[in-house]
Amino acid sequence: MAGSTLRILVVGAGIAGLAAARALRLAGYRPEITERQPAPRGAGLPGSRPTRPVAFPQTGLYLPGNAARALRELGLDGPVRPLGQVIRRQRFLDAQGHELCEVDLTKLWADVGECRALPTADLHRVLLTGAGGEVRYGTEVRALELTVDAVTVTFADGRRAEYDLVVGADGRRSAVRALAALGGPARPAGQVVYRSVVTGGPPIEDWTGLLGQRAGFVVMPMGAGRLYCYADEAGSVPPADPLARLRELFGDYGGPVPAILDGVEQVRVAVTDEVQLGRWSRGRVVLIGDAAHATAPTLSQGAAMALEDALVLSRALSGAVNVPEALAAYESRRRPRVTWVVDRTRDRDRTRDVPPALRDPLLRGRGGRIFQEHYRLLVDPA
Ligand SMILES: Cc1cc2nc3c(=O)[nH]c(=O)nc-3n(C[C@H](O)[C@H](O)[C@H](O)COP(=O)(O)OP(=O)(O)OC[C@H]3O[C@@H](n4cnc5c(N)ncnc54)[C@H](O)[C@@H]3O)c2cc1C
Repeated sequence: MAGSTLRILVVGAGIAGLAAARALRLAGYRPEITERQPAPRGAGLPGSRPTRPVAFPQTGLYLPGNAARALRELGLDGPVRPLGQVIRRQRFLDAQGHELCEVDLTKLWADVGECRALPTADLHRVLLTGAGGEVRYGTEVRALELTVDAVTVTFADGRRAEYDLVVGADGRRSAVRALAALGGPARPAGQVVYRSVVTGGPPIEDWTGLLGQRAGFVVMPMGAGRLYCYADEAGSVPPADPLARLRELFGDYGGPVPAILDGVEQVRVAVTDEVQLGRWSRGRVVLIGDAAHATAPTLSQGAAMALEDALVLSRALSGAVNVPEALAAYESRRRPRVTWVVDRTRDRDRTRDVPPALRDPLLRGRGGRIFQEHYRLLVDPA
């Protein structure tokens, strides 16, 4: 169906939706994109709801090498390369700041792509430009009517339109997932996460993670003197005062943590979710990204999986003779890789419950190999 006139609607202008729109356009399709949020400043189609003053909240993202490869395949490596900072090494420390082990990322991802930490907003801007910028903002999907060869979509403003394919890229709380009866709400994955960007902190060149018991603190450079901090603890209820809780949780950590905590002014708090589904499509509706398979961000594979989903879906559509065949091919290609990420994420999260007195000697001896192994399958092409 390469370059066919399929009427495609992509729901959600996050990483998955914008990447899908880009991949589909490269394959000759002309997808529409609809997004529930109002437009960021200067973006959006005529008729979209008014722009919001702050484009994207300030937070960071760590992209392992397979995300860089996917961006390259989307033709977006050029605009991403000047952004953020390349990360060459992961260092794992105990809570006092003593070295446990390290992973040489340049070696692990050789011939795949560079690992990078960057502001999330910067990646969104690149993807938005790559998608052609034509997003219908402030437009929520309210209902789907599925027939054998089409989907009728009702939007919140009452407008109705028919499509040959609806791509649900609307995140872990996906409305498309529920409306197409593909699954219910996401389940808590058991972590409360604190994120912040600090400027003028201590000099840090590597992804640096301090492992405590049922809690951890990760910091990495994003260039221009900015440090992206990601800290988590076991739990499922966000605290009333996240900054106070962050200081309480990590106040006795060593290494760079005290100097970083001194510089933290604002904290974003989130609770992690998991989505596990028996199937990712029904009729002419398919899910990609977090809508299909959200997981705790322990391996930082969420963006990479969303980008790869987009590429594989677009290739499947180009290579198949009809939409159902393409959706089956997409799911069978993506399932094993996503399952690998979910399983390795759970493996790594389980080690949080092991007392440091038992865990740390093991990590000193074999930690580098263990952590490297978590990415083994992902080095291969999607
Ligand atoms: C705390 C935390 C830290 C993370 N850190 C990393 C990291 O370092 N590296 C990494 O790779 N991943 C990380 N992730 C995961 C990553 O952010 C996600 O996997 C990724 O953003 C998923 O993208 P998505 O496009 O599928 O979903 P989303 O980013 O959620 O985008 C969905 C979009 O759909 C829109 N939408 C929702 N409902 C509707 C509707 N009914 N109609 C229209 N539009 C709708 C939303 O407004 C949104 O714009 C992290 C996640 C968390 C929670």
